[in-house]
Amino acid sequence: MTRIVIIGGGPGGYEAALVAAQLGAEVTVVDRDGLGGSAVLTDCVPSKTLIATAEVMTTFDSSYEELGIIVADDTPPLAQSARVVGVDLGKVNRRVKRLAIAQSHDITQAVTRAGVTVLRGKGRLGAGGQAVDGSREVVVDREDGTTETVRADAVLIATGVHPRELPDAQPDGERILTWTQVYDLDELPRELIVVGSGVTGAEFAGAYQALGSDVTLVSSRDRVLPGEDPDAAEVLEDVFRRRGMNVMSRSRAESAKRIGDKVEVTLSDGTVIEGTHCLMAVGSIPNTADMGLEEAGVALNDWGQIKVDRVSRTTAPGVYAAGDCTGVFMLASVAAMQGRIAMYHALGDAVQPLNLKTVASNVFTDPEIATVGYTAADVAGGKMDAVEVKLPLRGNPRAKMQGIRDGFVKLFCRPGTGIVVGGVVVAPRASELIHSISLAVDNNLTVEQVAGAFTVYPSLSGSTAEAARQLHIRKREGSDS
Ligand SMILES: Cc1cc2nc3c(=O)[nH]c(=O)nc-3n(C[C@H](O)[C@H](O)[C@H](O)COP(=O)(O)OP(=O)(O)OC[C@H]3O[C@@H](n4cnc5c(N)ncnc54)[C@H](O)[C@@H]3O)c2cc1C
Repeated sequence: MTRIVIIGGGPGGYEAALVAAQLGAEVTVVDRDGLGGSAVLTDCVPSKTLIATAEVMTTFDSSYEELGIIVADDTPPLAQSARVVGVDLGKVNRRVKRLAIAQSHDITQAVTRAGVTVLRGKGRLGAGGQAVDGSREVVVDREDGTTETVRADAVLIATGVHPRELPDAQPDGERILTWTQVYDLDELPRELIVVGSGVTGAEFAGAYQALGSDVTLVSSRDRVLPGEDPDAAEVLEDVFRRRGMNVMSRSRAESAKRIGDKVEVTLSDGTVIEGTHCLMAVGSIPNTADMGLEEAGVALNDWGQIKVDRVSRTTAPGVYAAGDCTGVFMLASVAAMQGRIAMYHALGDAVQPLNLKTVASNVFTDPEIATVGYTAADVAGGKMDAVEVKLPLRGNPRAKMQGIRDGFVKLFCRPGTGIVVGGVVVAPRASELIHSISLAVDNNLTVEQVAGAFTVYPSLSGSTAEAARQLHIRKREGSDS
């Protein structure tokens, strides 16, 4: 029986464990904090649970008047227009933690039921390197202080990342916070400064704004979400500002200091911003230090991420890596896919190398931004020859009925064949709407095929079909000229 040891029990690790057990291997998962990993315990699941409350608040706040809803409220009119619904953050956060722990528990049950051994502790590769039989040692420092050594025919490293901290902005867990610490707050931050306008910064800034905080978003770049579709980022920044968020572009935070019940954030130009709380969202550091990786021949890049190929092999024979610690594409779905691919490869099953061009991703702001396939940057940079159509949602009948004004559907297709190669949806629940485009990209469907499938009338997905129809016309005009 092939012995597999997996270090790290997040999506990269536990999904691999399930596959390896199904394929008949003897599997051990070593995890420090609980199965589900950061994805379930501190990052993805908690943030989306918090955002679920924020989403209801925004939907209500931004549309109740237009949709004719009367709120029986004796708050004075001025205060009422500022905030109709309020939030009990302590209750929200207790729910967040309860759901996270329950999900970790469910995953642990599923994994143990599949016959996998779970060891709670910190794992690292043993110093001995590869034995003559090709096996390796994994050393586990257990929670109870004991150390155990497990032998493996193949090892998977899936240890994830932790939040990056600036030397002069050390989190204290009360006023200066990382994204893993916000769920300990009992009261809503009155004035929240969010440092960093990537996906994590933008999601939290939008969520706390919706929950009722006064939010300042400090962005070192020209616009929020520098890695996303520029049109989508523009819509979001416009919505943020319209709702009263103070978005500070081209502003780099140098330090954050706690002064009593206040926090002062100093920017590189000397400007000082004051708030009651500060959330640092300035990137992450891979959990790859002190794990015996380089000694075992596992090469890391300059950022400490593990170098892997498309079947998750590292540079050391018999050692695979998956998920955020590889820096390939920091998503739970990609981590899980990399982990499964590693096991298919290690256990001699049929394996398809990782294809990043079909990954669907979403920014959980309001509106959401969902993306799949080739992007505007790929087209502009000559990586893909494609034509594009962008349809604002304003013209969509369902959007009008629902009072939705912001957002669009954008499709990219090859000029000759009309094959759909990418798309962006900016809309409420864009994460659900992107699936039809994802199917098209994954299966090389043409704009004619997308346009030919029925959509419900009225529906937001009608805009996807309409964008495909317009691309068909564009394509014909292109071939006529
Ligand atoms: C705020 C936030 C929101 C996010 N939202 C989403 C989202 O909505 N959708 C999405 O797809 N992705 C989201 N992500 C990204 C997603 O969380 C990660 O891509 C995912 O967690 C990666 O999984 P992983 O298995 O690589 O690592 P992790 O989930 O980080 O798990 C790694 C595990 O390894 C353990 N570990 C570390 N070192 C050791 C060691 N030496 N020995 C034993 N165990 C160890 C850790 O304790 C942890 O349990 C979000 C990230 C953040 C920060």
